[in-house]
Amino acid sequence: MPQSNDSVTANERLDFEDEPLFSDDQDTAASNSETPWKILVVDDERQVHEVTRLALKNFTFENRTLEIISAYSGQEAQAMLSQHPDTAVLLLDVVMETSQAGLELVKYIRENLHNLFVRIILRTGQPGEVPEISIIKGYDINDYRTKTELTQQKLFSTLVTAIRSYRDIITAEEDRREIASLNEKLQDFNRNLEESVKIRTRELEAKNQQLEAEIQARLKTQEKLQAINKALDLANQELDQLNRQLALAANQDGLTKLANRRRFDEYLEQSWKQAVRDQKALTLMLCDIDYFKQYNDTYGHLQGDHCLQVVAQTIDGAIRRPLDLAARYGGEEFAIILPNTNSEGAMAVAEKLRADLDQQALVHKSSSVSDRITLSIGISTLVPTAELTVPALIAATDTALYQAKKAGRAQIASHQAQPLN
Ligand code: GH3
Ligand code: MG
Ligand code: MG
Repeated sequence: MPQSNDSVTANERLDFEDEPLFSDDQDTAASNSETPWKILVVDDERQVHEVTRLALKNFTFENRTLEIISAYSGQEAQAMLSQHPDTAVLLLDVVMETSQAGLELVKYIRENLHNLFVRIILRTGQPGEVPEISIIKGYDINDYRTKTELTQQKLFSTLVTAIRSYRDIITAEEDRREIASLNEKLQDFNRNLEESVKIRTRELEAKNQQLEAEIQARLKTQEKLQAINKALDLANQELDQLNRQLALAANQDGLTKLANRRRFDEYLEQSWKQAVRDQKALTLMLCDIDYFKQYNDTYGHLQGDHCLQVVAQTIDGAIRRPLDLAARYGGEEFAIILPNTNSEGAMAVAEKLRADLDQQALVHKSSSVSDRITLSIGISTLVPTAELTVPALIAATDTALYQAKKAGRAQIASHQAQPLN
């Protein structure tokens, strides 16, 4: 590079002491602690390096000094830039080993190294070496100066502009990276959130299914319990009915469905006590079918049974009061208990019974007293006293029946009860 009067010389350094970019000694001491700005000077003329270093000796920007690195060819500069990717500014000679070496380095930096940060200041020996505008724009070249143009002052201001630009680009890049990093973190957070929501949703769905299953199980249990309860209800109803049937059977004569002897005894005792309390008349009546042995002999036992059923129904139909009771006393003999009934009332019942049975017209051709089934009826009516007892009433009724039989059957006889010895 040819030396010219306009070239920066060490002597000119002090001329720019008022330049704000100059620092005093204190500043220099302070700025030494900071990371220096890396400046790469590329020129095939050794002298240019020396002059540049001398000119920039006291340069500081934002309290940071310079670290000036030298390369003497495009090739060497490539290596230096690979080693120092944080180079802030490149002071680049255009014509070196070839006339295009500088521009080829620029191309290499932007296209091969993909270093878009380093600021490039072209320094040309001749104005004719200035590259075309399209290259300056395309490769982001900051400035170009002829070497003669670059006085120390201009070099300072050009460098300040370039470093500031570098700083802004780096700051913007850092901001961009920070934003990208934040963005990444945000996306991570979102992915995590999405994942958490998915997991939680799955958990909740599982819990829901479990609850649903439990509800179903409980409903089933409830249904089963209801079915069991229903079955139990039915069983209880059946049991009740059976008990009622059993109670009935215990008190009922199987053939005629009238009260049986057990029930008769019980009810007579009960009616007696009531009559004692009320001091009212109590009637007992015994009805015996006449010549029933002959009936069986004539028509057979089955027909005999049927006859007993018809007579029983007729007797039951002849009594009307709620307290009256008809019972099968034994064999072809029936008893009627008539509480609150005197002898006239008893006679009326007996007469009605005879008439009702006559209406039935049960043919009995082997009877000696009639051609129909007839009854002999013994009646005894009393108001209980201290001397008279249930057996006395039964005995008197028996006697009355015997008298009816003896008097020719098919008739009614009464007998007054006597105290038994
Ligand atoms: P009387 O006129 O003196 O009463 O003569 P009777 O033949 O009716 O009396 P007896 O006591 O001699 O005969 C009663 C008959 O009643 C005998 C018995 O076979 C019959 N008898 C008793 N219980 C039943 C029964 O449940 N079914 C049938 N078919 N016959 C019965
Ligand atoms: Mg008899
Ligand atoms: Mg008889």
